[in-house]
Amino acid sequence: REAGWAALRDQPNLTMDGTPVRLMLNIGLTMELAQLDATGAEGIGLFRTEIAMLARGAIADVAEQAAVYARVLDAAAGRPVLFRTMDLGGDKLLPGSARPEEENPAMGWRSLRIGLDRPALLRRQLRALLLAANGHELSVMFPMVANVAEFRAARALLLAEAAKVRPAPARLNVGTMLEVPALLFQLPALLREVDFVSVGTNDLLQFLFAADRGTPALAGRYDLLSPPVIDLLSTLVEQTRAAGVPLSVCGEAASRPLEAMTLVGLGIGALSMPASGLLPVKAMLAELDLPAFRQVLASIRRTCGAEASVREPIAAWARER
Ligand code: PEP
Ligand code: MG
Repeated sequence: REAGWAALRDQPNLTMDGTPVRLMLNIGLTMELAQLDATGAEGIGLFRTEIAMLARGAIADVAEQAAVYARVLDAAAGRPVLFRTMDLGGDKLLPGSARPEEENPAMGWRSLRIGLDRPALLRRQLRALLLAANGHELSVMFPMVANVAEFRAARALLLAEAAKVRPAPARLNVGTMLEVPALLFQLPALLREVDFVSVGTNDLLQFLFAADRGTPALAGRYDLLSPPVIDLLSTLVEQTRAAGVPLSVCGEAASRPLEAMTLVGLGIGALSMPASGLLPVKAMLAELDLPAFRQVLASIRRTCGAEASVREPIAAWARER
């Protein structure tokens, strides 16, 4: 089986009918970088910058941060890396950090909200990223963006730093996570301003269904493979395509074969996931007759009525194959 996985690693990421799908990794620590070559990933679709900060229990200074980000870019060796700015708060708290008592930390003072209220903190991180890029292409993604104004404010901080750092990056791509539902209602305006978007299904589903992502009792109750989410993702595919904005999915769902199959069936061409999911997803894709599945998915969507989930008919089709 080991040998089988290794052989799979070196094959291109294609569906059975030859449609390319970009498979990338979610990574947060430099020690995970070896997984890039171990899995044959095409890049890092989500580098969670806060993980190293959580591991060391503090936010590093600019030089230390830059050293970490430079190691990431070195290991990626030209493969794309989407650096997400610090997503602290919610379920990711620094020990001892003074924070307000909140009844709902996931919806509280966290993530980009902290960065916009403490711009010096975010600017130091942005400077570190620009320094690490050292004149090469750099892609920066903001988390928990709830409206276009927040994206603009965050990008302005990035551009202010970029004006000062030399050498300037050969290309600076600025994008956002789509994980707060309100932002989905501003897509036309947003898509005029971003270089890429990535769906964070972990938070998006949590907020869409008002269901805490960490509560086991809710884990089986709301499903990515449900009409509301499928319709939403399908609209997103149409609108990003029309706007020419690259779309990826970086929530954990992308690592589960049935979910990944459905995302690809909806037209999503880039998935970023934990390393453990990459080769199983790749194996699934190699056996996926995408045109046939697209027809099945369309028919399931037409006939599902008000079902809470369409997991079963999708799974049944996959089992038959
Ligand atoms: C997400 O919310 O889906 C996501 C990828 O980010 P995180 O899990 O770090 O919140
Ligand atoms: Mg998130």
